[in-house]
Amino acid sequence: MNQDATELSATGMDFSLSEEHLMIKDMARDFAKNELLPGVIERDENQKFPKELINRMGELGFFGMMADPQYGGGGLDAISYVLAMEEIAKVDASAAVMMSVNNSLVCWGLQEFGSEAQKEKYLTPLAKGEVIGAFCLSEPEAGSDATSQKTTAVDMGDHYLLNGTKNWITNGSTASTYLVFAQTDASKRTHGINVFIVEKNTPGFSIGPKENKLGIRGSDTHSLMFTDVRVPKENRIGADGFGFTFAMKTLAGGRIGIAAQALGIASGAFERSVAYAKERKTFGKPIADHQSIQFKLADMNTQIEAARLLTLKAAWLKDTHQDYVTASSTAKLFASKVAMDTTIEAVQIHGGYGYVREFHVERMMRDAKITQIYEGTSEIQKIVISRALLK
Ligand SMILES: Cc1cc2nc3c(=O)[nH]c(=O)nc-3n(C[C@H](O)[C@H](O)[C@H](O)COP(=O)(O)OP(=O)(O)OC[C@H]3O[C@@H](n4cnc5c(N)ncnc54)[C@H](O)[C@@H]3O)c2cc1C
Repeated sequence: MNQDATELSATGMDFSLSEEHLMIKDMARDFAKNELLPGVIERDENQKFPKELINRMGELGFFGMMADPQYGGGGLDAISYVLAMEEIAKVDASAAVMMSVNNSLVCWGLQEFGSEAQKEKYLTPLAKGEVIGAFCLSEPEAGSDATSQKTTAVDMGDHYLLNGTKNWITNGSTASTYLVFAQTDASKRTHGINVFIVEKNTPGFSIGPKENKLGIRGSDTHSLMFTDVRVPKENRIGADGFGFTFAMKTLAGGRIGIAAQALGIASGAFERSVAYAKERKTFGKPIADHQSIQFKLADMNTQIEAARLLTLKAAWLKDTHQDYVTASSTAKLFASKVAMDTTIEAVQIHGGYGYVREFHVERMMRDAKITQIYEGTSEIQKIVISRALLK
């Protein structure tokens, strides 16, 4: 049968990428190879991501990919975002998480639910990548159970007074704009939670020391402290009590980004493993000629391909305005496991060389673990998925 692309598309099962998608993927790949790869080992070692590199990512449009061009964004679809995230995460998972928080949690949240004034004042510089944002939900005693918010926001008439501590905040010190969740009325439980835009230099807002992490060490993670921080009323996003819904909706999209980050870590480790297996010789032949190595590569590729399809499907559901909540949890659950399993095998394929910094795969193995933890642990993804199955 001779089906052309148009006919295939008419069946609703066209797996090919558009010219524009391919262009974005290539652009992200080139940027990652030319500008992120040099220095990635040092950034991991020193836990530092240079400001110039953040600015460069901003200039290239990586921080506001899906935001409306009216507010300085790229106006791209979620599929483009997944493709770019994969390429960036293949090389530097720390750059990918900074991108992920800014794009899917901060910019998307403001665009969907912010007022016109909030979009103009805050979304525009964030989408242009002139400044970076942070998403501040987790607390020392509120991680998986985000309903247990202890940070309070007392309604003082024309402003709210914020008090409390946030934990593990990505972009904690590099950000300028923070979306902060707080409990306004504990008696209303989740309906008493609000989310506020807080500017960095607001009096009473302070940033704790940088966490010394296992992986994604190039990205900065901090605790944030709020002591009688005055937040103008116009900085509340949405109606009173909308905060928890805001968190759940943004995280559903965020999980597509983390699935793409996990996919990138896995495919980066896989590409390195294929190249190494062809080069490294034992017993007079490349290790790629040993069947046990060939089978490892076949398994890795199969898992990665499945993770890619799940992630792109979740993005496609989002782009076509269908329900993507379960699909994004499914993609994140699976892709994060693939990232972990694949990077462990990548280290194995590299033997002793896999255990040292210069060969990159040990960093990828350390970076992979976080994808099973943040934006909802794997156990929480299973709760989301099983709830949908059983309702
Ligand atoms: C590097 C890093 C960056 C982060 N960035 C951000 C950020 O930018 N913004 C932000 O708000 N947060 C961020 N987080 C926080 C992250 O989202 C939380 O760590 C995560 O949600 C888990 O919460 P927790 O650490 O309190 O673990 P807990 O909730 O205490 O969970 C501990 C264990 O119990 C399991 N568990 C908990 N409840 C259940 C249940 N009902 N059923 C089965 N198992 C359960 C969990 O799966 C986990 O294995 C970040 C964390 C890290 C480490």
